[in-house]
Amino acid sequence: MKPKVFVTRPLPAPALELLASACEVRSYAEDAAIPASQLAQACCDVEGILINSARLSEEILLAAPRLRAVSNCGVGYDNIDVAACNRRRIPITNTAGSLEETTADLAFMLLLAAARRAIEADRYVRDGRWQRWQWGLMHGLDVHHKTLGLVGFGGIGQAMARRGRGFSMRILYCARRRAAESVERELHAEHADLETLLRESDYVSLHVPLTPETRHIIDGRALHVMKSNAILVNTARGSVVDEDALVEALSSRKIAGAGLDVFESEPHVHPNLIELDNVVLAPHIGSATGETRLRMATLAVKNLLAMLAGERPANVVNPEIYS
Ligand code: NAP
Repeated sequence: MKPKVFVTRPLPAPALELLASACEVRSYAEDAAIPASQLAQACCDVEGILINSARLSEEILLAAPRLRAVSNCGVGYDNIDVAACNRRRIPITNTAGSLEETTADLAFMLLLAAARRAIEADRYVRDGRWQRWQWGLMHGLDVHHKTLGLVGFGGIGQAMARRGRGFSMRILYCARRRAAESVERELHAEHADLETLLRESDYVSLHVPLTPETRHIIDGRALHVMKSNAILVNTARGSVVDEDALVEALSSRKIAGAGLDVFESEPHVHPNLIELDNVVLAPHIGSATGETRLRMATLAVKNLLAMLAGERPANVVNPEIYS
């Protein structure tokens, strides 16, 4: 008998077909977060769940007594109660390796757009306000040869470093553990503590997971340490930044600008951010290309099938359950 699985969002057809070849699949039909009560109901008899931006709480786990595999379609898994899964020895996988380059493209786009005022410029032309070439029109900030500070230096942070190198930037990074010497050498990246990184960087880009330790890692104090002509880019998670403090720093030009793909209470965006012209906003589309979404979904399906077959996929994020 095929194991029953539940999928929390529609999947691309090839990924769904692969899953259906080995499992009895039920899916939430809408491309929206499934309400918790419906998720609990849907999970009552499933052995596996492929979860995409829905919250997997302890209550839902309690409602799913047969659950033995959780495949998260994404790298960040702050939506999942890992401790509760660990108590049940349920493995959790993510889709690391499928989306880093695409997300770094988006982060670098935000960096460039904020530095060179791309959104303002586009609006200026469309609004018919462009009358003549002007020497003093819309001065932005140079990106090349500037210092790029990467908070978090995993898959996406390192992909950003490669982009920065292409722009002849000096690369600083901070993480709890220092990267291998070969990685530092290849990417010309210098390890720094957070304070030094914030003080010396012209562009600060955030690439840490959301954890109790990283929540509001960029707060009013951190923003105060940054240069007044610095730009902050956040494609990690909204709550890594204290949004009120950021609004204050942007409004008072304490920092020059920001590029944001993620927000503290998505899809709600702080109303003052909408008003500011020194911030570029995107609706959490870091990994949103057709190719990457198919790669993510296929990897999430393969991870789920492997776990249900009793195998241990490379992308298990809670390996402690195996000890
Ligand atoms: P990753 O490969 O796991 O890298 C995370 C990095 O953060 C590592 O260098 C890690 O190093 C560092 N880190 C963790 N805790 C830290 C702390 N307290 N202080 C300093 N550094 C810390 O993750 P990734 O693939 O680069 O993705 C990063 C995050 O981006 C994800 O967790 C996800 O939330 C977000 N994301 C967003 C989108 C989007 O659509 N906008 C797409 C993909 C991912 P140490 O462990 O050594 O500290």
